[in-house]
Amino acid sequence: MESQNRKNKIIYVITLLILLIISSGSIFLYYYFDEKTKIKIKFNKTEEEKYQIREALYYDKLDELSKVQDEKKEYDNLDNQIEILRNDYFKSIKALEDAIKSGKSKAKIAYLTFDDGPYYNTYKVLDILDKYNVKATFFTTNINGEKCFDDRSKECYPLYKEYVKRGHTIANHTYTHGIWKGLYSSVDSFMTAVIKQEDLVKRETGGYVTKIVRFPGGSPTAGKLKNGIIEKLRARGYGWVDWSAQDGDGGGLKSKEEARANFKASINQNIEVVLFHDYNNITTSLLPEFIEYLQKNGYILLPLFYESSVINK
Ligand SMILES: [Zn+2]
Repeated sequence: MESQNRKNKIIYVITLLILLIISSGSIFLYYYFDEKTKIKIKFNKTEEEKYQIREALYYDKLDELSKVQDEKKEYDNLDNQIEILRNDYFKSIKALEDAIKSGKSKAKIAYLTFDDGPYYNTYKVLDILDKYNVKATFFTTNINGEKCFDDRSKECYPLYKEYVKRGHTIANHTYTHGIWKGLYSSVDSFMTAVIKQEDLVKRETGGYVTKIVRFPGGSPTAGKLKNGIIEKLRARGYGWVDWSAQDGDGGGLKSKEEARANFKASINQNIEVVLFHDYNNITTSLLPEFIEYLQKNGYILLPLFYESSVINK
């Protein structure tokens, strides 16, 4: 009997132990797997969120990219359109020049040109031209450097962009303008000065290509080198031009009367290339009068272009 009781007790204890083990095991397993599941869900959520953010960014960027591509297309088109308009514009001027030369047209053309700039005074010249809605040509040089020669506290390079913005032609008057400083010592020294100015204009305007050269001092100053220089200019796609009219502001003008008389006496052809200097105060103050004089006498005032018949090639 007693042994039966002990046996029962042992079974009871063992059963209790087994139940204890099973229940604590289940509790452990429950929490263990539950935590794992929780982590798993949490992990998946983060990944999904990350994925969604990436996806959103991707479509955002794709959207941006197509917008930029559209804008670029429009911009390229605009460039082409400007080029077409520009070509049409110059083609029609060339046709007018031909008609004038053959006597078929009674029209007259004057090309206003300003040498040796930019100067700070050039802003005044530009404003006068704007007022009359006249486009001109600026034969630029770096003789004065970055700071304006007539006001050393002012930067002169921004004028290059200004010429383009206001629709004028930028031409090349060599980087050094060094008539007495080796510019004409050889064909190469001249061409080096042309190319340096070409680069400066390109850099300051963001790509404008000069196609017309004016010899500092005029083409006869090149002497024996002239033909060799012209050949090199031609090979580089340049034409060149001197002038047919002026007010004499390049040297020793004493008064407005003198400038006025010089100017009027020099205007006598149906197509004129007028030489001015944008540093000269007499020219600047008489410029409105000169423009009005030309317009009253039937001249159309235009900017120079490579294809023009006045440009030697
Ligand atoms: Zn000059």
